[in-house]
Amino acid sequence: MTDPATSPAGLILRVALDTPLRRLFDYRAPAGSNHVLPGMRVEVPFGRRTLLGIVIEVTDRSDIPEARLRTAASVIDTEPVLDTLLLGLVRFAADYYHHAIGEACATALPSGLREGRPLHALEPRWRLSATGAAAVAKQPRLGHRQRALIDLLTARSEMDLTDLEVLGESARSTLRSLIGKGWVDAYEVPCEAITPVTPIVGPKPIPTAAQAQAIAAITASLGGFAPFLLHGVTGSGKTEVYLRAIEEAVAAGRQALVLVPEIALTPQAVSRFRARFDAPIAILHSGLTDTDRLAMWRLARSGRAPIVIGTRSAVFVPLARPGIVIIDEEHDPSYKQQEGFRYSARDLAVLRAQREQVPIVLGSATPSLETLQQAQAQRYRLLSLPERAGAAGVPRTTVVDLRVHEERHGIATPTVMAIERHLAAGGQVLIYLNRRGYAPTLFCPGCSWSAPCESCDARMTVHMRRQQLVCHHCGAQAPVPFACPRCSNELRPVGQGTERIEDGLDELFPGVPIARIDRDTIQGRGEIEQALDRVQSGEVRILVGTQMLTKGHDFPDVTLVVVLNADQGLFGTDFRASERLAQSIVQVSGRAGRASRPGEVYIQSACPDHPLLQRLVGEGYDGFADSALAEREAAGWPPYSRLALLRADAPERADALAFLEAARDVTPSLQGLRLLGPVASVMERRAGRYRAQLLVESRQRTTLHRFLAAWLPQVEALPQARRVRWSVDVDPLDVT
Ligand code: ADP
Ligand code: ZN
Ligand code: ZN
Repeated sequence: MTDPATSPAGLILRVALDTPLRRLFDYRAPAGSNHVLPGMRVEVPFGRRTLLGIVIEVTDRSDIPEARLRTAASVIDTEPVLDTLLLGLVRFAADYYHHAIGEACATALPSGLREGRPLHALEPRWRLSATGAAAVAKQPRLGHRQRALIDLLTARSEMDLTDLEVLGESARSTLRSLIGKGWVDAYEVPCEAITPVTPIVGPKPIPTAAQAQAIAAITASLGGFAPFLLHGVTGSGKTEVYLRAIEEAVAAGRQALVLVPEIALTPQAVSRFRARFDAPIAILHSGLTDTDRLAMWRLARSGRAPIVIGTRSAVFVPLARPGIVIIDEEHDPSYKQQEGFRYSARDLAVLRAQREQVPIVLGSATPSLETLQQAQAQRYRLLSLPERAGAAGVPRTTVVDLRVHEERHGIATPTVMAIERHLAAGGQVLIYLNRRGYAPTLFCPGCSWSAPCESCDARMTVHMRRQQLVCHHCGAQAPVPFACPRCSNELRPVGQGTERIEDGLDELFPGVPIARIDRDTIQGRGEIEQALDRVQSGEVRILVGTQMLTKGHDFPDVTLVVVLNADQGLFGTDFRASERLAQSIVQVSGRAGRASRPGEVYIQSACPDHPLLQRLVGEGYDGFADSALAEREAAGWPPYSRLALLRADAPERADALAFLEAARDVTPSLQGLRLLGPVASVMERRAGRYRAQLLVESRQRTTLHRFLAAWLPQVEALPQARRVRWSVDVDPLDVT
């Protein structure tokens, strides 16, 4: 038993530990630690290990018997790493998503802090050394990467981490080699907040009337909570609205938090901000090293970076002086974490803005139906930018009926002619197909065998370049067989993937430079930059790609966009399939004719009369959204109801279902709720595990949450739970 004298009388720390357990752990405060506050890190004994945890509450009583209460080993911080507001946000999120608080805290903190690194630290800086300056004066021949770095170092007295990030991924190794040569000195300085930023007053476009209205509405609400939906067609100048609103906030000494989808956070995107603000911009994306991530986090927390741009988890980044929140492409599914702690950064950002009393702007050309409905109900204020900012008009759309036109290599004759026409006129062509690889199926005409994945209820995709069959669900790989393993017949790839379209285009348009952009050709952030440069320089004439192409990149010289297979989304099994399809079509169409050239869009479909497609083509996204919302309301789907999905998987088919059936049997009152299932998932077997689900639906958010709060502890305690992996997904994006 611990000597009570080693602990200040009665001081108990309730600590969140990074474990899947949905509870807090009580410890005595270590001796002499009088100023422990919620949000500080502590080291505590856990079993035989020592873990780092976050203090959630400081109290004077515990349900743990005195004799079993252990004492925390040490308090790491002298001030909270999660301030009251963020800790409140994390606690809310853990409750709302019914997830373990410890894992929620872990998501909210950069890994460096979770490993015990100090909250404050010196910040790295670089400058040209005397040797470097002398060498540069002799105007040596330099590679373009070295040149870019040297130019920056010459132009400024010193360079910081945010400069390095803008130079792109390769800048770090270039910097290392310059340090090695003695041309650059590396040193460290304390990370301090800087005085309000004077935005660079460079050439700025004069806002259109619609932009001016939006800017005025947002800036008028600075200093208080106000949610806005900025619904502007692609190229309507939403970013310009963000920039102006941020200018005001920053000039008033406040910080702006800008969330963007992962793939859209390229140096090009950041340089637009850099061109307007002569200030450090903290950038947070998944490609950063742990060290850089922590350094960027500190820049945000200290207030030294007036602008913070980040992906999903940046919603948890502390700001010294919050001023405005922007969510760009708010419809993007990457804002919802799809595993572990399944939170929606968009939804939490709205709550955060409310608690911080700052305006939040949700921008999109294709708002989610949830957000549109909030605007219709006047909970969000709608700001519309109905026209494109530049000279280009709205692209003209043609639907190509695949039932009547002949296809070659997956491209119908009218489409081929349109491509020819645009290439001849000097335009670039963008071809969108949401399927990578060569063909989705390898088929035997002799016996109808089609290469299955051994671990999934799915077919293997043929990848010709790698000469492999790949399962896109579990990642399994196998060599492409020479002949049918069952009847030795010759095998035939069936269907189209981006690789095959690239080959087809090569045959149809010999000599025309083509670039393919998908996850097979683009691995790191550096590669996407290079590919985009080749497109922007005009070297590439035809671009083929997947979803990657629809996210925020500008292709000013693309005049024709082709959507190869619109039908996948029309008959999807998920209730959101048509929304996703419409968003992809509109987003990819928005890449056409952005500069001064008029654009055209060709959509290939085998069911051109489908009502949703008709409305989309005829009336645009708004017309589509009206129909889709009416369908959702009639069917009682979100946003007209609330969902939670209980998922389970197990190596044995019976176990997943047995667990969910048992869960169903222990449900408390079902008043105001509907249970759908349990049923096997649409793809029942994935990566060798059988998957099943039970959907809970309610018209009322509070009903659903009260139910989950009462139900999940019972589910957790089920003996069947030990035989499965299970999870709960609140507001799931995907219910298949
Ligand atoms: P969005 O974010 O809505 O897709 P952008 O902000 O990227 O649109 O603007 C599209 C293009 O129009 C950009 O090249 C931008 O510089 C330009 N632009 C934006 N606003 C104006 C304006 N008021 N006048 C002229 N050009 C503008
Ligand atoms: Zn066969
Ligand atoms: Zn598989």
